[in-house]
Amino acid sequence: ITAIRGSVRESAIGKTKTTDKADRATAERAIDHKTRMILYKMLNKGAFRDISGCISTGKEANVYHATQSQGQPLAVKIYKTSVLEFKDRARFMQGDFRFKNGYCKHTKTMVEIWAKKERGNLMRLKAAGIRCPTPYLLRLNVLVMEFIGKYGCAAPRLKDAALSLDKLREGYVEIIIAMRTLYQKCKLVHGDLSEYNILYYEGHLYIIDVSQAVEHEHPHALDFLREDCVHVSDFFKKHGVAVMTIRELFDFIVD
Ligand code: ATP
Ligand code: MN
Repeated sequence: ITAIRGSVRESAIGKTKTTDKADRATAERAIDHKTRMILYKMLNKGAFRDISGCISTGKEANVYHATQSQGQPLAVKIYKTSVLEFKDRARFMQGDFRFKNGYCKHTKTMVEIWAKKERGNLMRLKAAGIRCPTPYLLRLNVLVMEFIGKYGCAAPRLKDAALSLDKLREGYVEIIIAMRTLYQKCKLVHGDLSEYNILYYEGHLYIIDVSQAVEHEHPHALDFLREDCVHVSDFFKKHGVAVMTIRELFDFIVD
């Protein structure tokens, strides 16, 4: 446990090797005392044997690579507990009452609600057969999920995947079908879908970052869907794929 603790402290929190000060500050802010206790508990219960590196540090969450006792890789997404960062999420909350009442005895913080929404939404995607990380474990603001990638190397975002035109064409078809399934079967709109929240792995596209996805009955669901259509279309169009018009794509998804 001492070794594990060292690993959590030093590599995940970045106290030793991180040279970039801003990076280190961001990483440290994400792992507050309460979060660290959750990680220790997960370690003690055998959820994973170590946290071995940081995949991404963002405004709202950090994602770490962890290893299960049998050596399987995991992704651990830690939502930052500094609530200020979540201001712009108000528009997604409006009209989404899924987590408002009843489910928990104590009052959840905003980040805890987002983490729980992410897990719930990932489960819906999975159930509908959409490629995404399988969620394994949720504890307050910490979500442990399937690692998309190989040999400790996270799959690239679509933005960074440098695909051939043929692969891009396949990817476009795959993502618009996934968007339709997401809408028709999961009754969800992603709300932040773009080349930044799609991973390319083993020839397929994986949708990630679904904490802000809304029910298709949300008052702004169709506005969010239109934005998703624009972002997805723009990316593929920019890379030479003959894409549908926004209107055609939108109708394909909702009809
Ligand atoms: P922020 O908005 O603060 O940057 P985020 O909410 O965008 O954080 P995500 O998009 O879910 O967080 O994850 C950030 C990055 O971490 C992704 O772009 C991806 O590179 C990586 N990542 C997330 N989940 C996984 C996973 N399951 N397997 C591999 N890599 C992942
Ligand atoms: Mn993201």
